[in-house]
Amino acid sequence: MNIVILGPQGSGKGTQAEKLAKKFEAEHIDMGKFLREVALLETPLGKEIHEIVNIKKELVSDRILREVIHLKLLGLPREQGIVFDGVPRSIDQLGYFEEAIKESGRKIDKVISINLSKEESIKRISKRRVCEKCKKVFILGKDIQSAGEKCHAYRQAGNECGGKIIQRIDDSEEGVKKRLGIFKEETMPIVEYYKKEGKLAEINGDQEIEKVFEDILEKIW
Ligand SMILES: [Zn+2]
Repeated sequence: MNIVILGPQGSGKGTQAEKLAKKFEAEHIDMGKFLREVALLETPLGKEIHEIVNIKKELVSDRILREVIHLKLLGLPREQGIVFDGVPRSIDQLGYFEEAIKESGRKIDKVISINLSKEESIKRISKRRVCEKCKKVFILGKDIQSAGEKCHAYRQAGNECGGKIIQRIDDSEEGVKKRLGIFKEETMPIVEYYKKEGKLAEINGDQEIEKVFEDILEKIW
């Protein structure tokens, strides 16, 4: 089974993608993560992606995305199920994506759209903090109790990171609103496309992680 998972910031899409991949012994393709991995390679494509993603801090072009998807799909047996997370991100990418899927002899079976209100998304993301030093993510009120706490990653190993915990500008209310705007504009047409194809499963993301997962399983079964 090949699944695409879509959802705004804070919807828990990555967590659900991971759980699905585990359940179905599928490959979880986290496109952002995969791009960062390819960017580490000393190949022309790797260098090009490094330049765009790490230096210019821009989104990769459709051509690069297409090459990367092909690369990934080539390395997987045809019968291997896949959970796609973070791709396609726009209507332009959708065309390349569907083409690459088809060329590899696969098809998308289900598309899961995790819905979350703008208010809830802002509420969740605004609690997100990150260690300046090791980049570990903490949730205020859950992992840390006050903004002044120092990073306690690696405590188990006997030494502590001790880095300063900060809020990224992207995670501020304004930052989240901006990203939600981009999501709505670019990803909603994809949701509409798959709805017409009869492949869309809409899920209420404003629930506990386990309940969201149960709902997903119920809809894709
Ligand atoms: Zn740290």
